[in-house]
Amino acid sequence: MSGLRPTGDAAYRDGRGAFHPPVRRVVPGRGLRGKHEVRADACVIGSGAGGAVAAKELAEGGMDVVLLEEGEWWETDDFTARPREMSQRLYRDAAQVTTVGTPPIILPLGQAVGGTTLINSATCFRTPPHVLERWRREFGLESLTPAALDPFFRRVERELNVAQVPADIAGRNAAIVRRGVERLGWSGDYLYRNVRGCVGSGVCAFGCPTGAKQHVGITYVPRAWAAGATTYTGARAHRVEVRAGRARGVQAATRGGGRLRVGCDHVVVACGAIHTPVFLARQGLGGGSGQLGRNLAIHPATAVRAFMDEVVDMWRGVPQSYYVDEFATEGIMLEGAAGPPDYIAMSMPGEGEAHRALMERYRHLAQFGLMVSDSSRGEVRNVLGRPQVRYELDAADTARFHRGLEALCEIFWAAGAREVMVPVTGMPALRDGDTRPLRERRLRPGDLELMAFHPLGTARAGADPAASVVDEDLRLHGVEGLHVADGSVVPSALGVNPQITIMALASRMAFGLLGRPAPEHEPHPEHIATPRVAPVAA
Ligand SMILES: Cc1cc2nc3c(=O)[nH]c(=O)nc-3n(C[C@H](O)[C@H](O)[C@H](O)COP(=O)(O)OP(=O)(O)OC[C@H]3O[C@@H](n4cnc5c(N)ncnc54)[C@H](O)[C@@H]3O)c2cc1C
Ligand code: SF4
Repeated sequence: MSGLRPTGDAAYRDGRGAFHPPVRRVVPGRGLRGKHEVRADACVIGSGAGGAVAAKELAEGGMDVVLLEEGEWWETDDFTARPREMSQRLYRDAAQVTTVGTPPIILPLGQAVGGTTLINSATCFRTPPHVLERWRREFGLESLTPAALDPFFRRVERELNVAQVPADIAGRNAAIVRRGVERLGWSGDYLYRNVRGCVGSGVCAFGCPTGAKQHVGITYVPRAWAAGATTYTGARAHRVEVRAGRARGVQAATRGGGRLRVGCDHVVVACGAIHTPVFLARQGLGGGSGQLGRNLAIHPATAVRAFMDEVVDMWRGVPQSYYVDEFATEGIMLEGAAGPPDYIAMSMPGEGEAHRALMERYRHLAQFGLMVSDSSRGEVRNVLGRPQVRYELDAADTARFHRGLEALCEIFWAAGAREVMVPVTGMPALRDGDTRPLRERRLRPGDLELMAFHPLGTARAGADPAASVVDEDLRLHGVEGLHVADGSVVPSALGVNPQITIMALASRMAFGLLGRPAPEHEPHPEHIATPRVAPVAA
């Protein structure tokens, strides 16, 4: 395999219909009672962006792999496209996980085979080179250069069919923002996404009902099955057995009330940046440097809404299809955030008649998101065995939000909006091109209504065991045979969506564990997203 991999219209639309894996090796934990014992070379805990990739690469490399997942396996046909119903089924705690701090921030997490990739927006960016350079400087991660990671990015992008959204299914929401951006002479482009045959049905965050989204639950996990791996669903790992400084097995509780023990030589923890630190801390693992659970970055985010004269119908088209990187060097990225009416209704301000009046104008409503590459850092603590997430938004990030919100207003005014609603407490709708009330407002963290989708950094990688939790090959310092491969190892905010970074690091970890050289033969993409980035310091 080599040469060029197409990333244009044809690749994006290359649909194969709903996906039904030819081989299923799933053991539902809800049917497991009593004691069960299995043996494997490797046990991977968590089947999201990191875990599924690690499981597939290890299985294809010849290891016998068991994959434990607390959530369930869902068929594409189970996805009803109804946000309320799907949130309860596919998200942890029905998408109500919230940080403690000012402001409180909603932090949704997936819980299913595929992890959070099952309900994500499918936006794909490689780790920006200036971020890798920062990792080298600050964390001693000398091997994670753009050149060394390039084969792994190419491999992940091929496995997931990363291609650029064609303009005609990007939706009118994106067309409006693009119009504003072009009138202002700013920089933006259509996003690259992991899909195959996407028809722009607008419900990516609630389970793709056409099977177009190439989340890891329908790509990497079935490929792991084809290579012999087995997934236990409804299986919550609670302990890694460590004897004589080496991981020897994993214990899990099954939904059916049973107990499962996986005896193995290698354990890969991939529970995500919120649950991995609590999982490790509960058993006294990974705490040597005092960094476990700390350094949490989340890319806090929000959205601006605008009423247009034209019909927008933002339920049609790809919800996150366009981005504006004009301010990316300042840590501000603007990305599409369209949604169907029942989803928008849940977050629309007001109640009763006022809420109804706003929703009656839904067909003319546009919405675009704003994400900050945060300098604020939070912490995940183990409170009675459950994670408590503390996060305070700092002044610099608050200023970034202020600037980003103003920029979004300018874009909507340039695109012809009549009325713009910003997510700032007590701020009335802005009208007729006047951004002054927002500009003149002294914005405090508590004024902002925020969400966050990208928890990172709570078991960060680094060369110095005194300042990190895993090394650059993602080995937990101080325990043989124990790796971490999920968002928790990513040592800083990225400024771009993280799934490709997490998957590339997990791929590299698995290749290292197998003693295999980097997959230099992987095809180069015709194009990739190239957002503006901060200059790489000399
Ligand atoms: C709505 C939304 C949209 C997003 N959009 C994008 C996007 O467009 N592009 C992008 O790059 N990123 C996006 N993200 C973020 C991205 O999906 C995540 O960063 C990524 O999936 C994190 O990977 P992970 O391996 O760290 O954890 P996850 O993917 O969250 O996987 C962790 C898995 O571990 C399981 N688990 C946890 N504890 C246990 C246990 N003890 N035993 C067994 N299993 C356990 C969980 O159930 C879960 O399935 C989005 C996130 C959200 C919420
Ligand atoms: S827009 Fe629709 S078809 Fe395309 S990935 Fe999202 S949910 Fe699937």
